[in-house]
Amino acid sequence: MYHPVEIAEITEKTVCENNRRRYYRFRPARFYGGISTADCVGCCLRCVFCWSWNIVARPEEYGNLYAPEEVARRLVNIAKKKRLNQMRISGNEPTLCREHLINVLKLIPEDYLFILETNGILIGNDRTYAEELSAFHNLYVRVSLKGTCEEEFSRLTGSVPEGFQLQLRALEFLRDSGVRVHPASMISFSPCENIKALKKRLRAIDPAFEDFEVEELILYPAVEERLKKMKLRYFTGYRPDRIPAEQI
Ligand code: SF4
Repeated sequence: MYHPVEIAEITEKTVCENNRRRYYRFRPARFYGGISTADCVGCCLRCVFCWSWNIVARPEEYGNLYAPEEVARRLVNIAKKKRLNQMRISGNEPTLCREHLINVLKLIPEDYLFILETNGILIGNDRTYAEELSAFHNLYVRVSLKGTCEEEFSRLTGSVPEGFQLQLRALEFLRDSGVRVHPASMISFSPCENIKALKKRLRAIDPAFEDFEVEELILYPAVEERLKKMKLRYFTGYRPDRIPAEQI
């Protein structure tokens, strides 16, 4: 097992250099009704269901280093060309290389909404990260929980279970700092009682978090193959009023 904060430190040495960060793609994407997207390289988790597993596992083989100015320029150009009013950094984990991310955010004009999709580990590990993010009024954060409890988190990511508490703490720190934030959770591996228990834990942090966004597995062939090898049970088609019938 690994500690995700240690993996973040190691990975940063590969994907960040002098305030520049590795990215492997810039594109318009259809999510959120259309969003200008920069896909970064490098993550501090190793989720079994990750669709960009190859990049996460071998970051040194992907992408090129870009300065914040170049990243912001490309995001804005794509947004203008496609008439989009929102942007994001996606692909792997955008909170690695903190200084680089903060500098990108400083360069994004305030009339664009910036959606930060994160696993929350580094924000939960350091309250000042959330405080620093609170300076950006056009920022919205989506914290993606990996499972619904410590045990599932560890089984799905291979990390120490305490990483799940860092994810929850990120929500708490962001809320406390006045950052607009909501939780999402991958529930395709979770029995109903765990989903209910997560709702309760989230409500205790903030009543607005109880109705979290449900994330479900996307069965890309490589993901399916990996899950088969690991003999992991999962289901899709969650409905809050129904016990998952398709559990396999
Ligand atoms: S946090 Fe996201 S990018 Fe990182 S391993 Fe998990 S699914 Fe992949």
